[in-house]
Amino acid sequence: MTHDLQRKHELYEKYVKNMTLEDKIGQLLQLAAPFFEGADDGEITGPMEELGIGPETARLAGSALGLSGAEKVIAVQQAHLAQDKHGIPLLFMADIVHGFKTIYPIPLAIGCSWNPELAKRSAQAAAREAAVSGVHVTFAPMVDLVRDPRWGRVMESTGEDPYLNSVFARAFVDGFQGGDLKNDMERVASCVKHFAAYGLAEGGRDYNTVDLSERQLREYYLPSYKAAIDAGCEMVMTSFNTVDGIPASGSRKLMRGILREEWGFDGVLISDWAAIREMIAHGAAEDDRDAAFKAIQSGVDIEMMTPCYVHHLPGLVREGLVDEALIDEAVLRILCLKDKLGLFENPYRGADPAKEEAIICCEEHMEVSRRLAEESCVLLKNNGVLPLGKKQKVALIGPFGDSGDILGFWSWQGSKETAVKLAAAMQATSESPELVTAAQGCGIHNISEEQLADAVRIAEDADVLVLALGEESEMSGEAGSRSDIRLPEAQLKLIGRLKELGKPMAAVLFNGRPLDLHGVYDIADAVLEAWFPGSQGGAALANLLYGNVNPSGKLSMSFPYTTGQIPVYYNHFNTGRPKPAEPTDNRYISQYLDIPNEPLLPFGFGLSYTEFAYDGLKLMADTMSPDSPLEIRATVTNKGAVAGTETVQLYVRDVSGEVVRPVKELKDFIRIELQAGESREISFTLSESQLRYHHSDLSIGSDPGEFRIYVGPDSRNTLEAAFHLLAQV
Ligand code: BGC
Repeated sequence: MTHDLQRKHELYEKYVKNMTLEDKIGQLLQLAAPFFEGADDGEITGPMEELGIGPETARLAGSALGLSGAEKVIAVQQAHLAQDKHGIPLLFMADIVHGFKTIYPIPLAIGCSWNPELAKRSAQAAAREAAVSGVHVTFAPMVDLVRDPRWGRVMESTGEDPYLNSVFARAFVDGFQGGDLKNDMERVASCVKHFAAYGLAEGGRDYNTVDLSERQLREYYLPSYKAAIDAGCEMVMTSFNTVDGIPASGSRKLMRGILREEWGFDGVLISDWAAIREMIAHGAAEDDRDAAFKAIQSGVDIEMMTPCYVHHLPGLVREGLVDEALIDEAVLRILCLKDKLGLFENPYRGADPAKEEAIICCEEHMEVSRRLAEESCVLLKNNGVLPLGKKQKVALIGPFGDSGDILGFWSWQGSKETAVKLAAAMQATSESPELVTAAQGCGIHNISEEQLADAVRIAEDADVLVLALGEESEMSGEAGSRSDIRLPEAQLKLIGRLKELGKPMAAVLFNGRPLDLHGVYDIADAVLEAWFPGSQGGAALANLLYGNVNPSGKLSMSFPYTTGQIPVYYNHFNTGRPKPAEPTDNRYISQYLDIPNEPLLPFGFGLSYTEFAYDGLKLMADTMSPDSPLEIRATVTNKGAVAGTETVQLYVRDVSGEVVRPVKELKDFIRIELQAGESREISFTLSESQLRYHHSDLSIGSDPGEFRIYVGPDSRNTLEAAFHLLAQV
């Protein structure tokens, strides 16, 4: 018997065997903080009465959501253990998405760093802060592939590419969990979400229908969840949406089929918030009882925040409709997780008020946050106005100049008050604080004549204008969908008015999604995408704006030309009538009559204060075979006057496949730092396994024949070469 099986057996003998059916089903219930004695704070969506969960039922719950703070967690655990007749500790879970109290940039921004090592460090630091505050499991990473920036939750993902998302999924899981949850009390277990394909919500409207072919699901949407699971992720969360007409939280095929049987996942599967009951509104369950039946049959272990299981599973088991073995399996998985976290030995685990004091928001974590913000911001345009001179008179104008709303959605424990604001950081970075004056100019959505007049007054007196604009954090994140993703009208008006002054102008943008940049990109001389940069945002941005740090971020998601172009992503298929490079009289090609086909800014794009030139693309052979990988070389030269970091990207196209293959697919990347004038030859090794894909019968393999290789600074401007993949002999 393996160690795991042996332990499962022991846990069964010690606990499960002695538990009543009601006790067991209690373990499958997760409730939010207000249900627990001594922890009556925290928010829940909707009134508690509506949930129909009384104190007696709440007492059975096996896990708590959104509770943190060492003293409080210890008190709640103590109160729980005093009344739990089996002595089974509670699990405390929470959304530690991009930091606990030290807030890191939003995940979409972290994706733009193309630096998984630093992402891992941020997850480790977030885990440390959460663990000493009593949290055991984080509902992260969110690895949904996203192609529609109208969807507010794109901010939680690392973007539109399955390979890049998988790289980050692994990094986050490693960072949160480490290698030894039982003994390393400063880590937390990781719950990957949202299974599956939540990012494809129709029209970009949150919670909406998802419908896609199984081939597409497996080829593009599943790899990042699989990467998290292969990295050892302990839990999986279902998604709210339907997939092929079945709510994911009741999909036997997704959960018992793909997740458990195919992938061998033996960890805990939790529903998203109320997602089991939501099967009724979807039109896939008659009532709570039917929803409970479908969810347990499909493999959901824990029901989050609704009482379908706790109210109806006992009856369903007693009537013989649900096999008690299903309940036992689910309970055992939950007990195994509690055991892996060492909770049976120490139910208080890492919770420690003294450590909270020492670790939370410590210098080391803030330093990781600042560095990650510096590496996540993306310079989208620069006519030479950036970097700013430290002696220049700067007018900082806009609603984000002096705002703490730079942490982004899912930073419930972060402090907007102590976030480093842009105005103060710029004043500290310029040669003298008086050189930077600030005015609000407008609110996020409103503008008044007085605000405008103030802005114009300080602008007239300045050498250069820096506009700090964007979306407030609630405009993205959960339930933060927008149909029009331009900057709000008031801010466009502000830019237009200031442009009339004819002064050099740089825009710094704070937002949780790629925007339609009309009215900004065409007007400002420089655009720096700051996303929501986290606790150290202002400091990072001041370093970038003044050139103490050279921008190196590259987009992890395309910026559409207009909203009407969405979805637009780099790894699309060609049509039978692709648009030719040269203009043509032929009307009957795949194009818009009013806008280009290409996004405004492609995946992988980002400028720096230096210029990197690419040449010398060489394939070290003309052919590749399954047992002889291909070496690819190219030379990158820093042609500018300052050192910089470049992310060299390798893309592939399978020219003719059994199934149409994307025009380009990211296969690898390398980050290199080059001094001014320095050249370096870089090398990639590409093997046949990286060319495999899901064929029409869902089998995985490669197609012999011609392939193209692209190497470059982004997915659009690449050097190109070709090789042949030989058939297996
Ligand atoms: C979100 C999840 C989150 C959960 C618990 C849900 O509304 O969709 O991402 O983990 O709430 O807070």
